[in-house]
Amino acid sequence: MTLALYGLGVSRGIAIGQAYVLAHDELRITEYKIAADQVDKEIARFEDALDTALQQLQQVRYQIPTNTPVDIQSFIDTHLLMLKDAALAQVPIDTITMRRCNAEWALQLQRDALVNVFEAMDDAYLRTRRDDVDFVVSRVQRILLNRSEHPSELLGNPLRDAIVLADDLSPADVVLMQHQGIAAFITEFGGTTSHTAILARSLGIPALVGVHNARRYLKDGELLIVDGRRGVLLASPDDAIVEFFISRRQQESATAAELNKLKGRPAITHDGKKVNLLANVELHEDLVAIERVAAEGIGLYRTEMLFMNRPDLPSEEEQLETYLNVLNAVSGAPVTIRSLDIGGDKNVTWPQQSCSIVSNPALSLRGIRLCLKETAVFRVQLRAILRASAYGEVRLMLPMLSNLGELTQVRRLIDTVKKELTAQGLKFNSKLPVGGMIEVPAAALSAEMFAKYLDFLSIGTNDLIQYTVAADRIDDAVSYLYDPLHPGVLRLIKMTIDAGNTVGIPVAMCGEMAGDIRYTRLLLGLGLREFSMHPAFLLEVKRRVNNSDFDHLKKQVGEILPVAEPAVIVELVDTLNDDL
Ligand code: PEP
Ligand code: MG
Repeated sequence: MTLALYGLGVSRGIAIGQAYVLAHDELRITEYKIAADQVDKEIARFEDALDTALQQLQQVRYQIPTNTPVDIQSFIDTHLLMLKDAALAQVPIDTITMRRCNAEWALQLQRDALVNVFEAMDDAYLRTRRDDVDFVVSRVQRILLNRSEHPSELLGNPLRDAIVLADDLSPADVVLMQHQGIAAFITEFGGTTSHTAILARSLGIPALVGVHNARRYLKDGELLIVDGRRGVLLASPDDAIVEFFISRRQQESATAAELNKLKGRPAITHDGKKVNLLANVELHEDLVAIERVAAEGIGLYRTEMLFMNRPDLPSEEEQLETYLNVLNAVSGAPVTIRSLDIGGDKNVTWPQQSCSIVSNPALSLRGIRLCLKETAVFRVQLRAILRASAYGEVRLMLPMLSNLGELTQVRRLIDTVKKELTAQGLKFNSKLPVGGMIEVPAAALSAEMFAKYLDFLSIGTNDLIQYTVAADRIDDAVSYLYDPLHPGVLRLIKMTIDAGNTVGIPVAMCGEMAGDIRYTRLLLGLGLREFSMHPAFLLEVKRRVNNSDFDHLKKQVGEILPVAEPAVIVELVDTLNDDL
């Protein structure tokens, strides 16, 4: 009988292959005493193991494909550095000498001490560094114990075309396994934004994470089907199911080839309305993806990454360099830089937020509110963005606006910064377009007032939906309420688009809804002409735009707006896509 398991599909693609189950791999480390005359030998054994671990990791580093994101490479570099650091290379030697214990145990003691330090840290990112310590320590212990069943050490090739199942995998494991030709991988833990998931996407390996207890239900050698797009894993499928997925895989590659032909072509509806399709950028590797789909520019450049995972703040020069790199990557196309949107679920060590307990972080100091409180930090960012504007088509976008007073304050700050730059003889675009994100219902309801003082609007549906239906966007328990098709949400979107049209400024959408082809026609019918999304979705959306009739959709969607019943709305939105 076929068994279906579900997880988070973090890397698209269909794979069919045999399961290769990596056993739960806890090492049992015990202490034993070393005779005084054997201590030097034990130290030599430890040093040899360290050396072997270094060589293995260097080999992994060498095998990383050139198109791998730099942060993955630096992840492996971090492990290499750790192996060379006195904390792991010297302290265990001192322990062996003083305590006269075996090398595995000395290493274990040092691992526990380091993990305690990391776990005591406030910063969530630094706390996850304990995984790095575990990874490096267990690699050395494994060598000491002559254990080598972990995939990184499987240098024979039992993995070709296999679907690997593991509790978790490090990026280094994924690189090696890709080299060995795996078809896909499944892990029981992990999230969509883990380094391993990011790597799977950029290496094009179908992958599911968070498939809890997968290894309890599946056995080695069993036939599996992985659908990375839908987050499904099928075990022991019958012939008909296999046939079905083989043909779906063929369809997917044919579709991808077809979609590729749209690269560089404009998005225009049947009735001749040009639609702008731009990309959202969060990570460095998204810039590579933009090039693959030839986006018309960047509709949302999230600057938070620059401020996260570090104890200090990025300087003006560092920010300027980053923004100029982004401008270079899109060679002359517009780049919408969103000012810092920290707070809510996006945490940083700065400003001592972790110390203050806030009962509703999403309703507290985040986005523009925080920037207007921490103006010294905001000014540095404004200076960097203004300076970058001298070198290309930069636009500034303000997140989380809720009243016009905030906009007035930002405008004043921008004027001050412009004066400073002029006095210093630094170049900038004096007409830098300033836009605002509409993500707070009050801002959507008064969009026309905002529109009068802004150069463009961009609808951030991720937040707009959460605030409209009062359902936390990251809370599973209320995800059933988080409904993009709620009549209240649709009306706010329509009001915002209409406000832009009335005042005569462009309105874009940069929330996830803009990249979901189920909603493309609905949004066109609401009058949306600019969509910004993750590059991976852009060509699909373009195809849908090119198969649509703008004016006809306007009429159809006009009939959906008065409907109150959720199931009927879903059905009507589905019928918009019926001819596809
Ligand atoms: C949004 O809220 O829709 C948005 C694009 O911003 P973020 O997801 O970064 O909050
Ligand atoms: Mg938002």
